[in-house]
Amino acid sequence: MSSLSGLFTVLLQIVQKLLESLGVVQKAPPGSPLSVPATDRDKMLATLAQTYGIQIIPPDGRPNIRPPTDAELNVLITTARDLGMEWYGPFRSKPLSIYIDKTPGGGSYGNGILRFGDPGSDLSLLYRIFIHEGTHASNEYRHWPYETQWCTKPGFDWTKVGDNKWTHPRQQGTQMQEGNWETLPVDSRDVSTTPAEDLAEMVRYFVHSVKDERLWLWPLDQSKPATYLWMTSPTRFVFVRDIFLKLPPTHPWYRQLPPEQEQLAASHLMG
Ligand SMILES: [Zn+2]
Repeated sequence: MSSLSGLFTVLLQIVQKLLESLGVVQKAPPGSPLSVPATDRDKMLATLAQTYGIQIIPPDGRPNIRPPTDAELNVLITTARDLGMEWYGPFRSKPLSIYIDKTPGGGSYGNGILRFGDPGSDLSLLYRIFIHEGTHASNEYRHWPYETQWCTKPGFDWTKVGDNKWTHPRQQGTQMQEGNWETLPVDSRDVSTTPAEDLAEMVRYFVHSVKDERLWLWPLDQSKPATYLWMTSPTRFVFVRDIFLKLPPTHPWYRQLPPEQEQLAASHLMG
């Protein structure tokens, strides 16, 4: 180093210190990355990718895809956070890719890719699709524990009758069977088409009931607590709480059913 450039370096350091002391520039803490996300949006995208394993597919010239809005990103982050590590954890090692399709209507999941039909101005649509389709993804990333370990236990009441063929006593499209079996109290949703739909809807129902989101819970007697819907299917409620989401008792969503229902569910799940 020549004496001139050495002098210049010292001068620069003095100016830097002076600016720092005046609060004009912020000193980077030791070990901090050189480039920190510049905007709130960048931070949200980084959080979604790094903490929750969820990556946004960029439009990259595909005219049917639009980037999510900041409000939509916020819904995705808070919902993934609340569903918890058990739910999103598998996405951290193998990212879940998502995109918003400018064509409105529904959502779907397959091969690591979750499609949201454009929710327009109704953020609750994005929220509900995310819980349902994200649950399909979480179950798949965990190698289908519901199908392989749980759904044939008493209380879930599924029977496997062939490759990817299942029957349930309330099978959609057929007359509901009489008997001592459990079901979600909905009669026009797809809960009884396959175990996968049963699971996606039971997680969604669990979330809406513990959050008291009555708008999406029907049929619901407004005079009763939202969790009363689970009286017909306590095994599903306890399964979502203790096994699929594994919520700690300190979680804001942690709720309990009446003791006899808890006991029935526990005996089914341990059996
Ligand atoms: Zn589905």
